[in-house]
Amino acid sequence: MDEINQAYEEIRHTEAFQNELMQLFQDYVGRPSPVYHAKRLSDQLGGAQIFLKREDLNHTGAHKINHCLGEALLAKYMGKTKVIAETGAGQHGVALATACALVGIPCEIHMGQVDIEKEHPNVTKMKILGCNLIPVTRGTATLKDAVDSAFEEYLKDPVNSIYAIGSVVGPHPFPKMVRDFQSIIGREARQQFQDKFNKHPDYITACVGGGSNAMGLFTAFLEDDDVRIVGVEPAGKGLSTPDHSATLTLGSPGEIHGFKCYVLQDDKGQPLPVHSIASGLTIRALGRSTAT
Ligand SMILES: *Cc1c(COP(=O)(O)O)cnc(C)c1O
Repeated sequence: MDEINQAYEEIRHTEAFQNELMQLFQDYVGRPSPVYHAKRLSDQLGGAQIFLKREDLNHTGAHKINHCLGEALLAKYMGKTKVIAETGAGQHGVALATACALVGIPCEIHMGQVDIEKEHPNVTKMKILGCNLIPVTRGTATLKDAVDSAFEEYLKDPVNSIYAIGSVVGPHPFPKMVRDFQSIIGREARQQFQDKFNKHPDYITACVGGGSNAMGLFTAFLEDDDVRIVGVEPAGKGLSTPDHSATLTLGSPGEIHGFKCYVLQDDKGQPLPVHSIASGLTIRALGRSTAT
């Protein structure tokens, strides 16, 4: 982890790295993504005018490609020969397989068997993109088991391989790196809103799974006292039931997969199961990016 942090700190502000990433954002991802006025949704909900930052229009269909390109470039700069990751719904897997194919580094994705069956189209895409897809059948055969499996594979050869996490979670420096790569969302959105309306939005909001799209949007607005920031966690069947994934609302500092974070846990510090109908939102813990 120290080595990854050191390599990242060495390249993050270099012109070569920034230029290559920004060029890919523009020409490969199709950035900037538009800010769209959702008129009918605004009418239907009555009151606030709602604008959507259209990360869904990025190549591969989500914000994930932003950090995957950053991670794949870092892997290239570090001379790594294999990129390893887990995926839940398959969005991170597809984005990473795409980024690795672009940069030319083999990629191995660990995915729970349950999620493989639920998210067939993404599984097919990952295979077409040439990634080595590893089905994980242990435990609940979902995201958390895929994370364990991917970490184990990474630890077999941390010299030649690199782990590419899918959100602002995991050990330092991953939350920091993913936040930095995703911060393009907020920087664009703030400028786009300024250009259109000559003001800041009153509220910004994002769903919080692991927190990458939220951190990407929120980071640019942290100094703006007039902007209220609202993160939305999966309440599942309700916060009074065990079936939710509201880690920040009801969790406490603990440890998961070997790193410190907010986690839903029992009296003995064992992580509790989480629930959401969205595979990509069942992340049991939230990494908080404390480093800059
Ligand atoms: C991955 C993903 C999420 C959840 O992950 P975050 O790290 O919280 O952003 C939410 N929505 C979409 C479309 C995703 O691909």
